[in-house]
Amino acid sequence: MSESLLEAPEQVLSTLNPDGSRRWLRPKAAMGKWWKQRRVVAWVLMIMFTAIPWMRIGGEPIMLFDVMHRDFVFFTVHFRPTETILLAFLLFTIFFGVFFLTALLGRGWCGWACPQTVYLEFLYRPVERWTEGSHGGRAKKDIPLWRRVLKYTIFAALSIHLSNTFLSYFVGPEQVWDWSLSPPSEHPAAFAIVMGTAALMMFDFAFFREQMCTLVCPYARLQSALLDRDSIIIGYDEKRGEPRGKRKKSQENTHGDCIDCNLCVAACPTGIDIRNGLQLECIACAQCIDACDTVMDKIGSPRGLIRYTSQNVLAGLKQRFVRVRTLVYPAIILVTSSALVMGLVGRESAEVNILRVQEQVWTLQDSNILNPVQIRIDNRATEDRVYNVEITAPTTMLTQQFPVTVPPREGRSYVLLLSTPIDSFDQGRADVHLRVFDGVDFEKEMDHILLGPLEGAK
Ligand code: SF4
Ligand code: SF4
Repeated sequence: MSESLLEAPEQVLSTLNPDGSRRWLRPKAAMGKWWKQRRVVAWVLMIMFTAIPWMRIGGEPIMLFDVMHRDFVFFTVHFRPTETILLAFLLFTIFFGVFFLTALLGRGWCGWACPQTVYLEFLYRPVERWTEGSHGGRAKKDIPLWRRVLKYTIFAALSIHLSNTFLSYFVGPEQVWDWSLSPPSEHPAAFAIVMGTAALMMFDFAFFREQMCTLVCPYARLQSALLDRDSIIIGYDEKRGEPRGKRKKSQENTHGDCIDCNLCVAACPTGIDIRNGLQLECIACAQCIDACDTVMDKIGSPRGLIRYTSQNVLAGLKQRFVRVRTLVYPAIILVTSSALVMGLVGRESAEVNILRVQEQVWTLQDSNILNPVQIRIDNRATEDRVYNVEITAPTTMLTQQFPVTVPPREGRSYVLLLSTPIDSFDQGRADVHLRVFDGVDFEKEMDHILLGPLEGAK
């Protein structure tokens, strides 16, 4: 290939050739100790991902993100979108939990539990190896068409299954099952979402692959800030391995343990050479450990030339588990999770909010000011509740729809038409006091300011 003016002086990305074209990776599976353990974890996670939408505790789903009804269930606890403070505590707890685990265990999540890695390495890639043959076999263009068709057919079936599972986290598995058994014309929007999501999964797992980790994932971008020199990483022991080179009897004492076989590079799903040090592309999948341990076994050297370690240990320093960040993160998690638990324990069975009706602020009728006021009631209880509203004098309620029944886990809005004598208004404002109650365990008293004429009777 002739040298191009655009050619970078060094490799910019492990997935790019020097001329900018895609460098297709076909990593060779190193089925060692870590791979076998990761495979068990991966299958447990894949089964859980499929099973969780079906799982109930006391009739409540374990996880459901019901956007249509604005109801989010997380481990059977229901959150309404209006409960922003509780959602914020939940998200802070999750985020700082991730920060803490990353500070301790590095990118363990990426290598062991991230859906991208789990599905690519333990579902799609094995299917590809089974249908097309493993690494080191034929060039891509030499693979018979029927094998490629078979691969993409299985990929499409898996993607549609995953897409249906994904959708069941938002609408429930029973609804997805019903849709699956009826013609798409009866539910075109859901059908389009399933097919669109399946197409995205096909694109990711059949084409985009490791680039999701190296180019797109924001968590990967944060690694340099989240890791420190004591975090667990996968590292190459340069002191032990260098100078690398093929072993000959006469050189046994002059070379390090690395025989430069490149099997660690061939096994790497992101196409990097771990011997160049810690890199952003490394997803800590331990494939290079498994590959290298096999080589060490063959040449009679101890395992662990590549291993789980830390940058400080590789530099000959002591591993420290107690650092500022491993103390600060748990402290923050304790605060946010305590606030979340307290918020959940002290949570009332309903939430009521008053909203002003924008279009029509007030009207004059005889010597009274009429104000439409919108009231929203979110019933958090697990059964129907009947709510009533009382207004303190001199304001009266002209609408007669109360008491109202609100179904469980649902919210309803009602417009009240309030009538207040004009002489109650001062500087265009009058206070009104509302009491909302359900006769079971909920009662809330609220003050609201009604707007009226600036030139009132006062
Ligand atoms: S697998 Fe081990 S011995 Fe082979 S190149 Fe990698 S580090 Fe060196
Ligand atoms: S360098 Fe090793 S641990 Fe990192 S991604 Fe490659 S094979 Fe996995």
